Amino acid sequence: MERIWIAGPCAAESREQLLATAAELVEQSAIAGFRLDYFRAGAWKIRSNPDSFCGAGEEALPWLQEVQRIYDVPVCVEVMNARQVELCAKHDIYAVWVGARTGVNPTEVQQIADAVRGTDFTVMVKNPIIPDLKLWIGNIERFQKADIRRVMAVHRGFTDAQENVYRNAPVWQNPIELKVRMPELPILCDPSHLCGNVKWIPQVAQLSMNYGFNGLMVECHHNPSQALSDAEQQMTPAQWVELVTHLDLRNDTPDLSLVKQRAKLENIDNQISELLYQRMMITDEIADIKRKNHIAVVQPQQWQQVVKRYTKHPEDSAYQDFMAKFLELLHQTSIERQK
Ligand code: PEP
Ligand code: MN
Repeated sequence: MERIWIAGPCAAESREQLLATAAELVEQSAIAGFRLDYFRAGAWKIRSNPDSFCGAGEEALPWLQEVQRIYDVPVCVEVMNARQVELCAKHDIYAVWVGARTGVNPTEVQQIADAVRGTDFTVMVKNPIIPDLKLWIGNIERFQKADIRRVMAVHRGFTDAQENVYRNAPVWQNPIELKVRMPELPILCDPSHLCGNVKWIPQVAQLSMNYGFNGLMVECHHNPSQALSDAEQQMTPAQWVELVTHLDLRNDTPDLSLVKQRAKLENIDNQISELLYQRMMITDEIADIKRKNHIAVVQPQQWQQVVKRYTKHPEDSAYQDFMAKFLELLHQTSIERQK
């Protein structure tokens, strides 16, 4: 499976910061036996607070060009509009990405797609901050339709009204469904923005590998405590090398024992779906009987008996939770049909 490792600072702060961080990343990963595939840096930073540091802007592009030249590593930069795309092209920046905030606005995403049409840019599309898979897929398709040869998705989690341990809610089913629908598309995880703190990054990065992601985009700074943005979530280059070398990388070619287990699952799923159909036919007959005899559709005591009957395997709380949700769905569906 193709692996892609991206690292670099949240924001481009100064020439010295970019060169120092790139030097450490490139040299230390080479010593560890792998390659930094892209160096990332936000030249223009959209921040929640208007007084926060907002990146060195256009001035950073020649510095990033220098990083590309000296370290022979492609650079990727976030773009929010067509003008930024033009500036990146003028400075031979190799790749651009669409950020999570821009991703909620298809008009802006289309303008960026129009601006990169006919270029050799690699384009990375982060998930929009809301977990709307159609929107994310639509954004990816805008770049595919603009004939961009190399498009990748980046999962960085979703804004949640609730306070969570992580900065953003992972909603893993969203990128996993994306992988199912677009199997050829490389998907990376950005555990930095997902976690919001270096301490959670290894576990989230590993989980993304277990789910079959193709690589990581990680924020790294040569001196994280002095970073002008996202200081808590930026790793040192040494921490990043440690992270990547300790990942348990999963293969996407299934071995024979997996194929056998999958065949068993398929058999069970077939039985479940047939049984559920038979069950629905019976509930339709029950509906007829109730209608003929003027019996109310919902009979709470009767349903409580059903639920009690299925509290098997009390030692497995995840199974219990699933059954509770499943029985609720079954009940609601029956009521709908009986109406
Ligand atoms: C970033 O990667 O610098 C960034 C702003 O990320 P996101 O769009 O995921 O918030
Ligand atoms: Mn950041």
